[in-house]
Amino acid sequence: MTATAAAALSPQITDFQLSPELASFRDYVRDYCQTHLGDAARFDAETKFPRDPVAAAAKLGLLRTTVAKEHGGTAMGNLASCVMLEEINAVCASTGVTISVHNSLVNSLLGKWCTEAQKSRWFPKLVTGEWLGAYCLSEAASGSDAAALRCEARKEGDHYVMNGAKLWITTGNEAKLFVVFARTGPDRVKGISAFVVERDWPGVGVGKKERKLGLRGSPTTEIVLENVKVPADCLLDKEGNGFLIALDTLDGGRLGIASQALGLARAAVDLIKAYLAAQVDAKGRPTATQPDQWTLADLAAELDAYRFLTWRAAVLRDQGVRCSTEAAMAKLSASRLANRAARAAVSILGQAGVDGTTAAERILRDARITEIYEGATDIQRLVVARGLVNPA
Ligand SMILES: Cc1cc2nc3c(=O)[nH]c(=O)nc-3n(C[C@H](O)[C@H](O)[C@H](O)COP(=O)(O)OP(=O)(O)OC[C@H]3O[C@@H](n4cnc5c(N)ncnc54)[C@H](O)[C@@H]3O)c2cc1C
Repeated sequence: MTATAAAALSPQITDFQLSPELASFRDYVRDYCQTHLGDAARFDAETKFPRDPVAAAAKLGLLRTTVAKEHGGTAMGNLASCVMLEEINAVCASTGVTISVHNSLVNSLLGKWCTEAQKSRWFPKLVTGEWLGAYCLSEAASGSDAAALRCEARKEGDHYVMNGAKLWITTGNEAKLFVVFARTGPDRVKGISAFVVERDWPGVGVGKKERKLGLRGSPTTEIVLENVKVPADCLLDKEGNGFLIALDTLDGGRLGIASQALGLARAAVDLIKAYLAAQVDAKGRPTATQPDQWTLADLAAELDAYRFLTWRAAVLRDQGVRCSTEAAMAKLSASRLANRAARAAVSILGQAGVDGTTAAERILRDARITEIYEGATDIQRLVVARGLVNPA
């Protein structure tokens, strides 16, 4: 390439900064966090759903970032949602996962796979937060191997009869709308279909609430479906496309969890920074040990790197480009970092790392889950490897 040709190239990557609009949105979300998330530790300690923070988020438009404007959304997309979720999760991961599931797993899915009539039916309640959404894929014998699900939807005239039980459903006992993946045929993958099921229909019940290591303010429950009569017009897209819908949606969901992990990692790094800054001798000279400084430097460098990895995948998804590999890379890296950063914060802070006087121990417990849900770490590694070996 000649120097003239090189000079004529339009720069694709310029300054690695958020646009002024996104920076201002991030500040708007930071204000929300400061005003409404002060009780994060209490929600964790009391295993209490952060009802008021979620309601405030709804009022401020944070539950409709992935919904088109014609359906009452702000259509801000995946990148803006990632920016928002990092901020919220840096303060309260229980609120963060509630909003992530509602936006990235439910609203995005409905926006992409519903008919206009279906959107007009459900979005008015979802964008205002009057209804929260939940995503029901996992079952007792199908977690990583989602295609092994057994919940059944049998067609009978103008409706389906649904029977089964979904496990580990985030917001399960608070949600009014469930996206349920159920078996409509014998084929392992093409026999799965996606449906919307409303909480108030006969036969829909909430079972056991899980007692969890972390994310204790976010209720995780069983959803029991007993002879539920699901109208045929609540089938999403077409019969047999459920597994495709589930996986496509998880690409976006993983961006939400990557952003959650970034928020948790950032919170841990901030605790370490503050702790090291306070290490001074009588004359005010820094006394932080070199190993602690090295740890901080390594974590901070990785945090910046994985944020860009996450934003790259979000931009691809906003452009309508398939990003399974990139989203899995982001979740894989950010969730591992969150765990390393949280462990480091607990170690460096010592007693204050474990006794609850700082958020370090809560961050450690919350971070653990980012390596499990929406695809465990080893599953992300498989997705990345498969994407690299057999690119679409
Ligand atoms: C707090 C929380 C909230 C959740 N919310 C939801 C929700 O809202 N909706 C929903 O549908 N589900 C939800 N889940 C379920 C979650 O998605 C599953 O826990 C997850 O997919 C892992 O499945 P599993 O727990 O059955 O573990 P398993 O699938 O049994 O996996 C256990 C371990 O084995 C490894 N493993 C499994 N298969 C392979 C393989 N083929 N190759 C290599 N390693 C493998 C995994 O990496 C993992 O470490 C939630 C889970 C948690 C913890």
